[in-house]
Amino acid sequence: MSDKVDMDKIVSLCKRRGLIFPSSEIYGGLASCWDYGPVGVELKRNVKDAWWKAVVHERDDVVGLDTSIMMHPGVWAASGHIDNFTDPLVECKSCHLRWRADAIEGKKCPECSGELTEPRMFNLMFKTFMGPVEEEASMVYLRPETAQGIFVNFENVVTTSRKKLPLGIAQIGKSFRNEITTGNFIFRTREFEHMELEYFVKPGTDKEWLDYWVKERFDWYVELGIRKENLRLRQHGKDELAHYAKDCYDIDYLFPMGWSELEGIANRGDFDLTQHAKCSGKELSYYDAEAGEKYVPYVIEPSAGVDRSVLAFLVDAYEEEEIEGEKRTVLHLHPSLAPIKVAVLPLSRNEKLTPLAKEVFKQLCPDFVTDYDDSQSIGRRYRRQDEIGTPFCVTIDFESLEDKQVTIRERDSLAQIRVPVGELKKVIEAKLKGEAFGASTLWATRQK
Ligand code: ATP
Repeated sequence: MSDKVDMDKIVSLCKRRGLIFPSSEIYGGLASCWDYGPVGVELKRNVKDAWWKAVVHERDDVVGLDTSIMMHPGVWAASGHIDNFTDPLVECKSCHLRWRADAIEGKKCPECSGELTEPRMFNLMFKTFMGPVEEEASMVYLRPETAQGIFVNFENVVTTSRKKLPLGIAQIGKSFRNEITTGNFIFRTREFEHMELEYFVKPGTDKEWLDYWVKERFDWYVELGIRKENLRLRQHGKDELAHYAKDCYDIDYLFPMGWSELEGIANRGDFDLTQHAKCSGKELSYYDAEAGEKYVPYVIEPSAGVDRSVLAFLVDAYEEEEIEGEKRTVLHLHPSLAPIKVAVLPLSRNEKLTPLAKEVFKQLCPDFVTDYDDSQSIGRRYRRQDEIGTPFCVTIDFESLEDKQVTIRERDSLAQIRVPVGELKKVIEAKLKGEAFGASTLWATRQK
């Protein structure tokens, strides 16, 4: 379906419903910077939580880490970023627009067909100064990836976690890249969040662990509702591999602008630990007590973008359909990603209904992210919840006052069931975990 989804529709839904706004909008915006609104912040957090749960909490061989954005400049010399983290930049001699030479076809400016300058290598790292003096000696970089914070803490983590190899160290955090061309909404921005795992293994077992993580990561997207036909795996050709990589796969998603990278899974060999050991003078190896040998581990790195994942989940979930002659826009988000799990909607803002509706809200909000809305017609409120992907709406009507039962409406099938107020929490909990909703088609049936 995603080839039919127009990016403009996603951008407009995100603005209209409080998911994502242009940054600094009242000042005219700042190119390629975006702010997550009240609904978007929940979605983004859910994506990160789902990753952390799958990669850290549900395993005994991975631990987490949270390192600083600014690091010793020596880190970036050792990692190769100062020399190699560059893109070829060309400028049009007529309109002065700048382009990434490897991202355009032909030798003319794509905008005005003007002549282009010779390419020069442009480093993508943002620089700033630490302390009050703006001089070369106090220059630091904003990290372009979270991975290096993990490598330089390898020794700290191994000695304090008391874990054996294979051992993974995971991190989620902001990265900064001064990209020459940005665009496609939150697909490519200069400030974004990474979800990265560095999985340290014994040399010789790296190939099988690469295959393992490629499958794990691919399945993660499918389990969270992305349709398989919109995902593909692509192995990098030898000429494409980054300076540190022995092998690499991309998980691509069929975005509205076509197939594009969603996540990369690389075999980095022992490049990083060897480089940091050499440049810092500190030994970074592992003593394998069982085998009685010491070695520098190899590293498998699944590296995903939070924002790019958010975009893929949004695009895949988006649907416009017609229900009884009326257009409905709905996000079929997986329940664990849905920003709001339950909306409590009294039939109207009637003083008789309000106390029970508030009581229901109070009962649900400690356990589920719950919205309370009593403005406008019930139909409009359902539409709003559909558009932000709320799986369940609970309606309180005048009958509820008599029989203490409320109606739960399911987002995808529009099926409704009536449930005693006292059982609401239990029922919603079970339904969010995937229990069938009457004879309805739940979100999961979209996965064939
Ligand atoms: P690309 O080829 O798209 O520039 P990359 O191969 O340089 O990406 P990696 O360094 O492998 O990207 O980073 C891993 C992931 O981080 C990417 O798959 C993507 O999801 C995300 N990512 C990288 N750069 C950006 C960016 N500028 N904006 C948003 N997300 C990004």
